[in-house]
Amino acid sequence: MTPMLRRTAAVLSSWAAGEHRSTARATQVRGANVTVFPAPEDVAPKVSLKNISLSYATNSKGRLVALQDINLQVRAGEFLCIVGPSGCGKSTLLHLIAGLHQQTSGEVLVDDAAVQGPGTDRMLIFQELGLFPWLTVAQNVAFGMKMKGLPRTTREAKVREYLKLVHLQQFHDSFVHQLSGGMRQRVALARALATEPDVLLMDEPFAALDAQTRDLLHDELERIWAETGRTIIFVTHNVREAVRLGDRVVLLTFRPGQVKREYEIDLPRPRHLEDVHVAGAARDILNDLREEINKSLEAEYTK
Ligand code: ADP
Ligand code: MG
Repeated sequence: MTPMLRRTAAVLSSWAAGEHRSTARATQVRGANVTVFPAPEDVAPKVSLKNISLSYATNSKGRLVALQDINLQVRAGEFLCIVGPSGCGKSTLLHLIAGLHQQTSGEVLVDDAAVQGPGTDRMLIFQELGLFPWLTVAQNVAFGMKMKGLPRTTREAKVREYLKLVHLQQFHDSFVHQLSGGMRQRVALARALATEPDVLLMDEPFAALDAQTRDLLHDELERIWAETGRTIIFVTHNVREAVRLGDRVVLLTFRPGQVKREYEIDLPRPRHLEDVHVAGAARDILNDLREEINKSLEAEYTK
């Protein structure tokens, strides 16, 4: 098994042991282009990061502060995008929410309960996918549900339902090597959704795809999010992608990662990457991001 597959297997099998959290969600109404949230004061945040700091031990016996004093609240059903320069702690932040890392100080709350480890209420999707090449598409999608202990008939019905949602019904019995990159991403998405997590954590999932495939997946993800009402926390280094998808974009500073600014994106949906309003909003954020990228380049070149 490659390290990537080992990581996936670890994540998936940790669910079996992981506690299952209540999946009660705030009431919300969502039409094709409209989202109506209850008044914010009536609803506890779905995910809440309180004064989060995290440092890693380094080889030189020092500590590297990856995240410092992060405060962030994510509403139920929100599509939140996180951007920041490479190395600012974006992946680390998702791993904390997924329960794969432990913060040095502060608290991660999901539905007001402290995260103790991985759980079936949160699912992480990353760029390398971690699909199993020896399993069919259907078996890959069923894998997480099997770990969760769902009976065969339920698994089979859900595999059909979620393959339909990502438009891959006819590839039920194909193997992963027979699919394009975009189709593989959709299998990974179906596998994550099939376990019906409240929160989808996505770590630069489309970074390796060609532009047309990525555009299609943006449309699909936006539609699936609207249909399923999941909370999505989506990490990307691509500001335009963040504005295309997010209700809100959070910009992190270069190391140590701190919240530099939050931007509400209230452009109508569905949005398009090439839309002039999307481009305009992205330009403003990019100006702020550029400062942080310069700091990261300076740090790298003056080492
Ligand atoms: P990003 O996803 O924004 O590129 P990461 O969260 O992967 O950033 O990493 C943040 C910082 O923490 C980087 O400087 C990285 O080198 C460091 N880091 C990440 N994981 C580890 C680890 N397991 N041990 C030590 N340092 C790490
Ligand atoms: Mg990363």
